[in-house]
Amino acid sequence: MPVNWSPTSWKENPIAQDVAYPDQDHLDKVLEKLNTLPPLVTPSEIERLRHQLSQVQRGEAFLLHAGDCAESFDACTYENISAKIGLILSFSLVLIWGARLPVVRIGRIAGQYAKPRSSNYETVNGEKILSFRGDNVNGLDPKDRRPDPERLLSAYFHSTTTLNCLRSLLTSGFASLHHPREWSLEHVRSEALRREFEVIVDGLSDALDFSQTIGVDAGAALPYEHGGGRGTLGEVDFYTSHEGLMLGYETALTRELPVPAVKAFYNTGAHFLWIGDRTRQLTGAHVEYFRGIRNPIGIKVGPTMESAELVRVLDVVNPDRESGRITLITRYGAPKIDDHLPAHIHAVKESGHPVAWICDPMHGNTQTSASGLKTRHFNNIISEITSSLRIHTACGSQLNGVSLEFTGELNEEGYSVTECLGGSMELSEEELELRYQSFCDPRLNFEQSLDIAFLMSNHFKK
Ligand code: PEP
Ligand code: MN
Repeated sequence: MPVNWSPTSWKENPIAQDVAYPDQDHLDKVLEKLNTLPPLVTPSEIERLRHQLSQVQRGEAFLLHAGDCAESFDACTYENISAKIGLILSFSLVLIWGARLPVVRIGRIAGQYAKPRSSNYETVNGEKILSFRGDNVNGLDPKDRRPDPERLLSAYFHSTTTLNCLRSLLTSGFASLHHPREWSLEHVRSEALRREFEVIVDGLSDALDFSQTIGVDAGAALPYEHGGGRGTLGEVDFYTSHEGLMLGYETALTRELPVPAVKAFYNTGAHFLWIGDRTRQLTGAHVEYFRGIRNPIGIKVGPTMESAELVRVLDVVNPDRESGRITLITRYGAPKIDDHLPAHIHAVKESGHPVAWICDPMHGNTQTSASGLKTRHFNNIISEITSSLRIHTACGSQLNGVSLEFTGELNEEGYSVTECLGGSMELSEEELELRYQSFCDPRLNFEQSLDIAFLMSNHFKK
């Protein structure tokens, strides 16, 4: 266990993005209750992910981290969850095909409710009210902005339901690589995209038939200390994640558990947690909490991060320099990446810290449309990914994955959301309002996401 750390030692440090609850006793009661509820994920699953992320860090696998900016309680339906999983599976299949590498899938799912905000307040119809902080804190409705601790319990139960749906989808054949056509491709309207995907599926089916015929067992068991278990072609590995923002909630789900080797503190609310760009202060409460948990963690790295500061954060959260523990999620914005990424790569290399480098091409590329909607342009997203690939190669490093905000969600008529501009469907500013459903950041829709998957896949094929 790290020196002078406990699951509550963060309380001694300044807390960025803290939520002021009007009733402390009520909050304490909810947190006590949460502390008695069962874990959502197990230490063996967490160890398995650590092991797989060490493969990612060494360039032996690629990481796909994706999902909504924020989940909402209302969107917790079978249709939405299966559409999300379907898109993550389709995206990873396209990548596997091009890169010929295993893809580790981590969803922003089953707990991604809390949002950091640039201001505590906003003005709605001339009135100054508290900002919306995510479904686990307050309501989107301007009349429902008082932080309510009961929402933390509701977040736990919605996470449980989501996870239950996810586990059943993954074990009941939905995720089987033998049936990729079931992953909701039927609504892809672009003939070209559909054809491209079908070429991959046909090739894969042939390969699977062949390996079955000759009796190859594709799933190798992992040793016990890496979580054990056997990945098979029929059941894919899939992990959950969220931003570890609400430290009271995270602490209530942090448990000292003996599996699989020595006792360690596991955050049992998700396999993977990340520190946001607004809460990564070196002496802040979030870094203090994160340094003590055994889970693999992500750190968002934006343009305001100094190289020396980045290395100091790594020293704090990974003093033993364990591979698979740290994923750096860079998010500078397409015009800024050249100014920052090379220096960050050099500093981390020099420090000797093993990290997986992931590109988040979403959060530095947010813009406002003429009609006032928060959006992102496909070209800027692609530009940040291609720059990231180029810079890593030029610096003798390697891009190990991507972190995206996307959704396979459809409306009742079967149409995708219209939140990001461009892509092969050439979504225009006028079309944004048609099906803009995000209450947080704009997400790529199914077609735009597959466009990215094919572009990346083709890059790796070369
Ligand atoms: C996010 O991932 O939704 C987010 C808020 O990112 P960042 O902390 O990088 O701004
Ligand atoms: Mn976001």
